[in-house]
Amino acid sequence: MFENLSYKLDKAFQTLKGKGQITEINVATTAKEIRRALIDADVNYKVAKEVTDTIKEEALGKDVLTTVSPGQLLIKITNDELTKLMGGKQEDISLEGSPATILISGLQGSGKTTFSGKLANYLKKQGRTVLLVACDIYRPAAIDQLKVLGEQIGVEVYSEPENKNAEQIAENAIKYAKDNGKSTVIVDTAGRLAVDEQMMNEIEGLKKSLDPSETLFVVDSMTGQDAVNTAKVFNERLDFDGVVLTKLDGDTRGGAALSIRTVVDKPIKFISTGEKMDAIDKFFPERMAGRILG
Ligand code: GDP
Repeated sequence: MFENLSYKLDKAFQTLKGKGQITEINVATTAKEIRRALIDADVNYKVAKEVTDTIKEEALGKDVLTTVSPGQLLIKITNDELTKLMGGKQEDISLEGSPATILISGLQGSGKTTFSGKLANYLKKQGRTVLLVACDIYRPAAIDQLKVLGEQIGVEVYSEPENKNAEQIAENAIKYAKDNGKSTVIVDTAGRLAVDEQMMNEIEGLKKSLDPSETLFVVDSMTGQDAVNTAKVFNERLDFDGVVLTKLDGDTRGGAALSIRTVVDKPIKFISTGEKMDAIDKFFPERMAGRILG
């Protein structure tokens, strides 16, 4: 995960090796290298600039008599700034309501259906009774895909293959969940290859009528800056509650993980790290910063 970024940050800190103390010049050099590493990792330019300006300021503001070396000090400050950048603390999804409803949004191929299965599995393990709802009215294959996952994890899947009204399907699913004692409903929705008006209207309508306890936006971390732009568009329409970053097991550069929080001001709540049903983790900003800094 983020090998290239980790390598470049390490190189940035190397510029301080052998330096006895923090000076304006050596901190500026390191900060510039850090900024370059972040931009290369697809971090939004403005975000990268803000972070490195803060790192510089923090470093210069420290007491020169500090016992740690300039390199260690910069690593510590960078760690704190990256943690802050990713939201500071871990945030959970809301499971209020009976049933608690979770709406899953995102582009096609982002990993929505896979994540819906994973989340169902995760919540089932916590003792919740989950109903998965296939609300993709355009791709019959998506319904089958969810059914296969449901079978694999032992979670019931609700679908109405003939019904082309997503809101109605979701409404019926909630009723079904209530009648059958399910505590949690996860609604997997249709996704397009790019943001389009019809899709945004549909998911917006679905959110209004469902009034979910949690709306999650799923995004492929491999798509870098596009991931951040898509998040912005979805957030403007949906005002979602949290982000799910998928495919962090792949060759991803890190920009999405680092920029999304600042750009849309919504926390990353889960990460997806593979195709298997247990490849799901809560997102801990501090742990992620630690991984990035190696
Ligand atoms: P959807 O169109 O948004 O529902 O996306 P899918 O759930 O169908 O996922 C698209 C593809 O990405 C599938 O081949 C999944 O197996 C794969 N996929 C989903 N999540 C992950 C992940 O975290 N890591 C990897 N490597 N592949 C994933």
